[in-house]
Amino acid sequence: MRCPFCHTHDTRVVDSRLAAEGDQVRRRRECVGCNERFTTYESAELVMPRVVKRDGTRVLFDDLRLRNGMLRALEKRPVATEAVDAALSKIRQRIQAFGDGEVPASQIGQWVMEELRELDQVAYVRFASVYRSFEDVSAFREVIEGLEHREPTVSDESDRS
Ligand SMILES: [Zn+2]
Repeated sequence: MRCPFCHTHDTRVVDSRLAAEGDQVRRRRECVGCNERFTTYESAELVMPRVVKRDGTRVLFDDLRLRNGMLRALEKRPVATEAVDAALSKIRQRIQAFGDGEVPASQIGQWVMEELRELDQVAYVRFASVYRSFEDVSAFREVIEGLEHREPTVSDESDRS
């Protein structure tokens, strides 16, 4: 690692400790040439696949967009930030595990809906109404039935068709 002060290539690590709750390693380095000290941070590079949109275009995965989309649906809902963060990291893991370096936007939307359904049913319907745009009545019914299937009291399927 080159010294940022004198550009000597020879620096040594004088201290090394975990930072950011263990997600980073913080290293204190000293230049062998000029004895100046500086800090470096090391963290794992998480390569996210590209997102394939409905029209076939590929865009970079946008973590902020994912987060904002969920938070918008959860606005003024009694859901803890911790629970939202846990859901987000679950979605990120699924995106990374999807493979092929690409993941359809519709698949991500599906995972978001699954997480929201667990977190808050109002947020789930909100998100679904935007995401699915409820082009027809049957799409709406599908979403509502997705909720009803989770209710243990609704067990008789035959009565509803
Ligand atoms: Zn130096």
